[in-house]
Order: sequence, then structure tokens, then C-alpha cells
Amino acid sequence: MQEPQPSFLHAGFRASALRHPDRPALTLDGRTWTYGELDALALRWAAALTAAAGGRPRRVGVLAHRSVVSYAGFLAALYAGAAAVPLHPKYPAARNRDVLERAGVDALLADGGALPRLGPLLTGLAVAPALVLPEHDEAPAALPAGSRVLTRRDVAAAEPQAAPVSPDPADTAYLLFTSGSTGRPKGVPIAHTHVASFLRANTERYGFTPDDRFTNTFDQTFDLSVFDLFMAWGSGGHLLPLGATDLMAPLDFVRDNAVTVWFSVPSVAVLQHRRGRLKPGSLPGLRWSLFCGEALPDTVAAAWQEAAPGSVVENLYGPTEATIACMVHRWDPRTSPDRAVNGIVPIGTPYPGMAAAALTEDGRPVADGETGELCLSGAQVFDGYLDAPEQTARAFHTAAPYGGEPGRWYRTGDLVRRTADGEFAYLGRLDTQVKILGHRIETGEVEAHLLRQPGVAQAVVLPVPGDEEGVTVLAAVVSGDGLDVEAVDDGLRAALPPYMIPLTYHPLDTFPLNANGKVDRGALRERVVSGDLEPYPL
Ligand code: AMP
Repeated sequence: MQEPQPSFLHAGFRASALRHPDRPALTLDGRTWTYGELDALALRWAAALTAAAGGRPRRVGVLAHRSVVSYAGFLAALYAGAAAVPLHPKYPAARNRDVLERAGVDALLADGGALPRLGPLLTGLAVAPALVLPEHDEAPAALPAGSRVLTRRDVAAAEPQAAPVSPDPADTAYLLFTSGSTGRPKGVPIAHTHVASFLRANTERYGFTPDDRFTNTFDQTFDLSVFDLFMAWGSGGHLLPLGATDLMAPLDFVRDNAVTVWFSVPSVAVLQHRRGRLKPGSLPGLRWSLFCGEALPDTVAAAWQEAAPGSVVENLYGPTEATIACMVHRWDPRTSPDRAVNGIVPIGTPYPGMAAAALTEDGRPVADGETGELCLSGAQVFDGYLDAPEQTARAFHTAAPYGGEPGRWYRTGDLVRRTADGEFAYLGRLDTQVKILGHRIETGEVEAHLLRQPGVAQAVVLPVPGDEEGVTVLAAVVSGDGLDVEAVDDGLRAALPPYMIPLTYHPLDTFPLNANGKVDRGALRERVVSGDLEPYPL
């Protein structure tokens, strides 16, 4: 059984490694690492990180993708007593550099695949982090002068730590960056206490065992991946990350690998459903089918439940700021369909240690059945954005929706209604934040970057239905004299992650205004969806 009360993020992994070092912990591309092997790597790399940083590092960047470095590297960062800062090698250098600088990363671990990215990433940094490169024989060319680099040989020669550093529970365990409407991502530090509370709630809820076999569909820049790694390892289970090709046929992966715990954004299930692949009884080995990150359509939950009749289907909900997930609805084929609102499965009730309330703009509770903003309070709620006191202040209400002393309530921006049975139903957003295949995007951030491109005078980014039913894509409406749309697209790709790039650009001279004199986004969306505003042929 699982570690009952892990006090920090890596405690569960370490306990499993000590208890059964020979059990499999991770399989990537057919190669398996046992708990003992991963633990040994993490202890050695943690020592290398500490040596490279000249003392206990505070923040360790991990520039790696679905490699042993991305998994053992996350552990090594924690073992060294640092906060892990996952970086996606496919994101533009400018964006990753911004993260390195703002997070104050003092040591960076990178995998073999990230080699060509290192030069462009580190060029121009005022203070370059120390580099730990367990998969490189030589330091890459074109590094800033004075860069400290440990290559494969140095790492192999490092004397491993005897044990992981035990951090202060209030220390940051991981730091992620999420889309910001002003054009800059927001840093969300999550402390060991926050994530320990999350792990505890899940440990009790699911009772996973060493026989469980977990998917990992999420990139590590997405906090839902923390569930996969640390729930699998805390229970002594086996983590089976899906590669790019596996993600094209995820149900085959489940069957071929005898997966027992599935966790993904609903979009993956939506696509499988639309393509007719969720055949009744076709996923007999699944015990748990968990979805989180965006609205879950009831038809899809029902179809998945029929495909995996031996599994419990759950809709989890939560923003990064409240640590991975903090509300949940368990799908019941008999009662849940009637509880869906607008065809969307309810987000349920809060985790233990968490409270939820629907509040008005000024922080007062709305009557049951009325629509309000979902606000969250409790052990999983973060302390505030990285170095952004004003954004933090705007993100919280001081309120007492259930009486007693007023407390801090995180404003999610999600519109909800409490239903007669005490659950929360998800109704949409208060703002223009959207989810594209589960990725959180402030359309304002994309607009801000569009306006920085030469010749762009006005820009509006809108979520519109894609060619495939049930899938949303981004469309950009742009104005400007002699606009070079290709150059604009290139400029955007150099600044933003691939999932934030609009699928289509629609040039327009004059934007329609609404009665308040603002750009009429609804009218623009209408014209894009109807085909009246044609896309520029890219
Ligand atoms: P992220 O910080 O990327 O995890 O995104 C959090 C946002 O995703 C929430 O504020 C919601 O808008 C959305 N979200 C997450 N889970 C659900 C869910 N089960 N149903 C509807 N929306 C969800």
C-alpha cells in the first residue's frame, strides 16, 4: 500500500525505492528502470547539481522531454533540495530564457535531445545557470563565457548523496508558468505542503497498489503530470509514459501495456469517441479512468465508462494555482447523466482540506442555484504568483462565505452553479481564457505578442470550432497596412509555445465595435465561424 502521509513531494518515491528497489518504476521506449536504479540516478545527479551550483541549488531547471532525464531529473532536483522548474525543449528559446531568468534557475539539467537548444537558450543571459548534462560527452559549443558545465564523465564521477535533502515543507516543490493575459506567463510556485495535501487526498481516495500501471499523457510543463509521476511512485506502481506515436493510438497503448490507471484531458477521449474507437468492453483492464483539465462532455464520459466497465470514471477539476486538482465528481451511469449541465459533467465537490464557494464580483456568496465565480480556499491553494504582488492581490478575495473569520479565497475565473445535490456545475469562463487540447491559454497573451509583430495594428484571438467535431482551435483576426501574415506567424512562433499559435489568420481592415466602443469579439467570431472572414492562405 501507499505511504500514508508523505510530507513532501519526493517522500513517496523514496519510500518505495527503499521498500522494493527491484520493482519497475518507469518504462520508456521499451527500456525499464527499477526504483533502485532511478533512486541511484537521482542521488548522483542531485550531487552533481549541488557541485555545479556550488552549494544547495534553489531552483533547478529540467530541459528534457520524455527521457530518463525528464523523470529522474525532476527527482534529482527535489533530492538536491531545490524546486523543480520543468522546461519544454520544443518551446522557443526566448520563452524558456524568460523562465530561466525569472525563476532564478541556478542549475539546469538537460537531456541529449536538448543539446542543440542550449546555445540559443543561454546566449544573452546575464547570469547563466550551471549545466549538468548526464547524456553529453562534451560541453556544447557557443555557451556564454564562464558557463560551468558538468558532462557525462563528471556526472558519473560525482559521489552520490547518501539520502535526499529534506526540504522545509513550506519550500517550493515545483514552479510552473501559466499563460498571462498581459503577454507574460505567470509563475506559480507550489510548496511541498500544498502538493503533500493533494497526494494525501488521492492516496486515500484511490488506494493504488504496486500492481497499478499508470499512463503519463501530460508534458511535464503541465501540472497534471505531477499526479502521474508521484501517485505512481508513491504507491510503488509502474509509470508508462506515452510517446508521440502512442498518443495517436492511446487505447491500443492501454491494452498493449495492461494499463490500470488512465489519466488525460477529456480531449483525448473526445477524439477517440468521435472516431468510433470507444467500443463497449474494449478496455477491460482499466481500474481507474480519470479526466481533468477541461470540460468533460457527458456523452464522452458515458462512452468511456462503457468501454472500460471495470473502471471508475472521474471528472477532476483544478487550476494550477490550487495544485493539480481539488474537486471531483465520480461518474455514475445511473445518476450522472441527469446531473450534467449543458451536456457537461459536474466538477463535483472539494477534496478533503479544500473548500469551494460561488462568489459575486465583490466576494459575497451567491444564492444556491445562481451563477457565481468559483473561489477556492484550503491547504492546496498557492501563496501567490512569483514576484507579482499586484496580480496575486487581484487573484484573491478576503471572504467568509460560510461564516467565521474571513479567509483567502482564490478566484478561479470559472463560472459555476451549486446544484441541489451540493455539487458544483461548470458553466464556462468569466474572461477570455480558453483551453486548447487541455492547454490553458489567455487569448490576451497571444494578442499581446501579435501586436509586437511588425505592421500589426489590431489583433483579436478567438476560440473557434476546428474541422474535427468537438475540437477547439484558435483563429486570429488582424489588421495593419501591407501586413505580411507569414512574417507575423514566424514572429509568433519564435515567441510562443506551439499550442498557442493560431491555426488561421483572418486579415480585416476595420474591426466592428460594440455599444461600449470595444471590439465586438462576438461579431468577429461569428464572421470567422460562418466563413465570411476568409483565412489567409498560409
Ligand atoms: P490549468 O491551470 O491549466 O490546470 O487550468 C485550469 C482551468 O482548466 C480551470 O480554471 C478550468 O477553466 C479548466 N478546467 C480544469 N478542469 C476542468 C473540468 N473538469 N471541467 C471544466 N473545466 C476544467
